[in-house]
Amino acid sequence: MSFSVLSIIYLLGSVTFIIGLKMLSHPATARKGNLIAAGGMTLAILGTIFLYEHNGERLHNYGWIFTGLLIGGVIGVLAAKKVKMTAMPEMVSLFNGTGGACAALISAIEFRHLSENVVTTGELLTILLGLMIGAVSFAGSMIAWGKLNGRIKDFAFKGQHIVNQVVLAVMVICAVWLLWSNDGLQVHHHILFYIVLVLALLYGVLFVMPIGGADMPVVISLLNSFTGVAAACGGFLYNNQVMLTGGILVGSAGTILTILMCKAMNRSLKNVLIGSFGGAKAGVAKEQGLYKAISLSDAAVVLAYAQKVMIVPGYGLAVAQAQHACHELEKQLEEKGVSVLYAIHPVAGRMPGHMNVLLAEADVSYDKLLEMEQANAALPTTDVVLVLGANDVVNPAAKHDPDSPIYGMPILEVETAKMVIVNKRSMKPGYAGIENDLFFQPKTSMLFGDAKQVLQQLISEIKQV
Ligand code: NDP
Repeated sequence: MSFSVLSIIYLLGSVTFIIGLKMLSHPATARKGNLIAAGGMTLAILGTIFLYEHNGERLHNYGWIFTGLLIGGVIGVLAAKKVKMTAMPEMVSLFNGTGGACAALISAIEFRHLSENVVTTGELLTILLGLMIGAVSFAGSMIAWGKLNGRIKDFAFKGQHIVNQVVLAVMVICAVWLLWSNDGLQVHHHILFYIVLVLALLYGVLFVMPIGGADMPVVISLLNSFTGVAAACGGFLYNNQVMLTGGILVGSAGTILTILMCKAMNRSLKNVLIGSFGGAKAGVAKEQGLYKAISLSDAAVVLAYAQKVMIVPGYGLAVAQAQHACHELEKQLEEKGVSVLYAIHPVAGRMPGHMNVLLAEADVSYDKLLEMEQANAALPTTDVVLVLGANDVVNPAAKHDPDSPIYGMPILEVETAKMVIVNKRSMKPGYAGIENDLFFQPKTSMLFGDAKQVLQQLISEIKQV
């Protein structure tokens, strides 16, 4: 009886994951989608704790289980509440790493359990896959986390890619050897199992170490898909449908996200993994030309007398936490009869959806957010574009300069508007480390300063216009 109730719970859990994932694809429904999927996961966890039976026995060590759940839950809630939006990729990396570690631990524990009796080759294969993929994901995520918060610097040595491949090959050979000798596992086979674990951890470190810190969101997304696959292996092992569906969904969503991020930056995954764009050897700035600056009061007049204004938010807006001031400016301008829209580039900021989440936090209406294609169609009829802490995503070199590292990356074509005001603190380059010709074009004016302060001053200037 309880088995069938549990199956229905697992089915419900799987359905909530799919619905939740679907709802995550739009900012208006994302929060609800997240809650629905979390509700399904809670149901599945409680169902497993109270209804799962093995050889007629239920789980009994409730003290340990609920203490663990409580500690993990409190840490998760506090961390999620405290994290700043710009530090979100870091937190995702840390949490993803713990998922990988869980999958690897499941494999380590089940290897000990099962090898005491008879372990089938299928079970051993699943255990080894969960171990290797989970451990790579854990070690890689920890390095990615360290890089994103600046504790770990990029590190590469000559011939590293060869060393990485050798480590990977030795790990696979050891795993195959274990599978081969499955008929009678000896002590040295147990040692071999832990060698596979150590090599997987080493590979995770070596794999992520040379990749540029700014490429970490792509790497995290890839490692996230690894964790999903590792969790799915656990699902196979325990014949647990909800774990299997959850793992497969994470695995495929992570893979799709990785591909989309690479596409939006016009880079192949290989280029991200072994290239240096955004890393220590970022592009060299060309000689700077002449640019013109605009004063706050002039910018206020230009904006207040425009009919159509398009705001382009970028990483700098997130760093300055200027989203609320930005919404305030939008309201001020609308009071003056100006139509205000936002142009959202798919990789503006440091993770996909970064700008949507920031603006949603400040209550900017979703129907004001234009995706890149819609924005590019609307830009030629726009009077003033206000670029706030964005750089690479508006760099025309992506269209005109075949030698540029971002050549081919789809961009917001702000230069087609009548006038462009760019707010940033200096003439320093953005993430790709390259010069931006937009800043030197006759229709562009630079408005220097921290985005939040500049916006607050603009708002008070506009009130007086
Ligand atoms: P960029 O990093 O290109 O530019 C951000 C600009 O913001 C900088 O030039 C900086 O100039 C300015 N800035 C920083 N702090 C402030 C501040 N407090 N106030 C005002 N301006 C500030 O950002 P974009 O959003 O244009 O582009 C994102 C880049 O990140 C792309 O190259 C993309 O490929 C990459 N990327 C995106 C990922 C994603 O998934 N979204 C993942 C990985 C990379 P200054 O220092 O002069 O102020």
